[in-house]
Amino acid sequence: MMKKYTLVLVVFFFFSFQMHAQRNCGTMSYMSHLESMDPSVSLKMAQNEVAIRNWIKSHGSEQQKSIITIPVVVHVLYRVSVQNISDAQIQSQIDILNEDYRRLNADTANTPPLFDSLAADVGIEFCFAHQDPSGNWTDGVTRTFTSKISFDLSQNDAKYTAQGGHDAWDRDKYFNIWVVPQIKDGATGGILGYSQFPGGPAATDGVVIGYRYFGSTGTAAAPFNKGRTLTHELGHWLNLYHIWGDDNGSCAGSDQVQDTPNQGSENYGCPNFPHSSCSNTSDMFMNYMDYTDDVCMNMFSEGQKQRMLAVMNTSRSSLVTSGVCEPLALREISNADQLKVYPNPSNGEFVLDFNNLEIKGSVTVKVYNAMGQLVFEREYIDIANQESIRLSEVNSGMYMIHIISDQFSIIKKIEIQR
Ligand SMILES: [Zn+2]
Repeated sequence: MMKKYTLVLVVFFFFSFQMHAQRNCGTMSYMSHLESMDPSVSLKMAQNEVAIRNWIKSHGSEQQKSIITIPVVVHVLYRVSVQNISDAQIQSQIDILNEDYRRLNADTANTPPLFDSLAADVGIEFCFAHQDPSGNWTDGVTRTFTSKISFDLSQNDAKYTAQGGHDAWDRDKYFNIWVVPQIKDGATGGILGYSQFPGGPAATDGVVIGYRYFGSTGTAAAPFNKGRTLTHELGHWLNLYHIWGDDNGSCAGSDQVQDTPNQGSENYGCPNFPHSSCSNTSDMFMNYMDYTDDVCMNMFSEGQKQRMLAVMNTSRSSLVTSGVCEPLALREISNADQLKVYPNPSNGEFVLDFNNLEIKGSVTVKVYNAMGQLVFEREYIDIANQESIRLSEVNSGMYMIHIISDQFSIIKKIEIQR
């Protein structure tokens, strides 16, 4: 009897561990949905592949001339407040992209010597958009309440306002990210994220990701709490395939990259090095395009870098010159009359008057200068009805005050005269 219970318990823990701990990316399933609905997608992807190979042939050996910066907008879709993730969590994710795509990540030392010489600084960085599609100032984040418990990759409902999601911003100017409560593929749950390869429709271009796999703080949950799910999905968006070639272990498939070893199946968790398949010395299981845990991933290869740069110089080239990270001009977006700021103009010391607002929980105050640079940030756990702010080291000019809480997000303008 005892033994039976032990067995049941072991089986239960085994399955619950498997259910929670295994990476599951929806990109390949999503792309087959897309291709079956619209056969022209396959053709466009094939054309992109040709353009990429041609670009690599003629430019692949050149030194990269300058760092490419991709403007980002994050659309947060939430049904309960915990899913309305904090600015700090969103910032942590962008920081991770900026590390992983510049090989500035702290764990580069974990790349085995066998692969270290192949590890690439991809030369791509990311900035928050500071112009929305109408030219108004934005912090690069939209927040939308949704009644949906989960979003389905075959329906792409996260990407449409009319379906409980949020419409994409122009993909020629913005890289769209949707952070959602849950992703399903029909009856299958547990999908961490999915991406659209270059060549897909404009309205659905970008990456959808679950709020528990995004960034490295807040709701990010182990073993996917180092932001590598987005590093991986972004790789797909830049035309990278899974490193094992999605061939169910046959060794016949390819990721179209020369310097990654031929690999049988995906790897989970944290394998010990070397871990061999298809007669290779070892799988490159620490590559962002495998299925290992966040803490075990730490590299892209030079060959993958060439494919990504090829995309940024061909089908996604408009993003390089989009310029939406620079604010057009300071404008007062919200005329939220309930919040008073005085005196205005001010000598650098002013009062935020919350008297007419019902505030629960913490409030974050951020102040930006005309260039969109953050000059002041403070989180107030228990904010007073009147809170005095002192900007001691700023020049005269127009400034934007962004006040964020669980209940509201208000932007006010203030003029500093010294
Ligand atoms: Zn994937």
